[in-house]
Amino acid sequence: MKKGLFCSIALAAGMLMSVTVAQAKTQFVTIGTGGITGVYYPTGGAIAKMVNKKKKEYGIRATVESTGGSVFNINAVMNGDLEFGVAQSDRQFQAIKGLAEWKDKGPQEDLQAVFSIYPEAVTLMAAVDAGAHDIVELKGKRVNIGNPGSGHRQNAQDAFVAVNIDPEKDLTVEGIKASEAPSLLQDGRIDAFFYTVGHPNGAIKEATSGARKVRFVSINHVDELLASHPYYAKTFIPVAMYPGAQNEKDVPTFGVKATLITSAKVPDEVVYAITKEVFENFEEFKKLHPAYSTLTKEAMLEGLSAPIHPGAMKYYKEAGLK
Ligand code: GLU
Repeated sequence: MKKGLFCSIALAAGMLMSVTVAQAKTQFVTIGTGGITGVYYPTGGAIAKMVNKKKKEYGIRATVESTGGSVFNINAVMNGDLEFGVAQSDRQFQAIKGLAEWKDKGPQEDLQAVFSIYPEAVTLMAAVDAGAHDIVELKGKRVNIGNPGSGHRQNAQDAFVAVNIDPEKDLTVEGIKASEAPSLLQDGRIDAFFYTVGHPNGAIKEATSGARKVRFVSINHVDELLASHPYYAKTFIPVAMYPGAQNEKDVPTFGVKATLITSAKVPDEVVYAITKEVFENFEEFKKLHPAYSTLTKEAMLEGLSAPIHPGAMKYYKEAGLK
């Protein structure tokens, strides 16, 4: 009897200890994304899914947070509120060099790159009744350029400079989140909105399925902008993905890449595990979103301006990718 009691106490204590050890070992990491109708949010989910499958092996539990976008994510990773963030390649470039939103704060020296993911197009969507086919025809309209934490806000401003639109004089500018723009467009409260985003995505699907007819607006005349900004490249919107859009041909614009960023302060083993699980299960990862259809492992190492985190680099060396 006594022996039995002793055994069960010992067993209970042992169990408690192993639970405590397992708990102490679990590292919780959060990936900052964007609005839930964008592609960053499911991308954070896809990355988390790959590493969480091996929770027992790595002791890492990744979760995803919906945020205001690239600029918010970079800042949150820099101040330690998040461990990872999805961010546009142009914003990664600006943050590491202390440009644009980081002009006053200076270069974000702890910013590090993990990998780049899929292409994002600077997408300009307008109501057909606004009468604009090209960005130069936006004058006099009410246009959403995005919330201050978003990546596309600066892309819209760069496009305006390129085509000689003075937003203060020529437009009524709004600064709301991309996730709210489709309903505002449908309600007639804005005429157009910018969203730098992968395709297809839920926000554009929502914007193209309402009663107010909408179309993608081309962004031409950006050759000089592209020549002076190394992170911008020509691209187009694949309109076939949105049967509700009143466009017949793919729409020219410019674009960037979505990238995964982290901080030098995040432990190597965490970044290594995430990188390894995405790359080793690449075909499975690619199936998680249609925007990943053209991904290659090699392309995922392009478009990075911050130094590659040593944990990611360890994997790239092992895999012969670097
Ligand atoms: N590119 C957008 C941004 O940086 C987010 C796009 C998305 O959420 O898919 O704010």
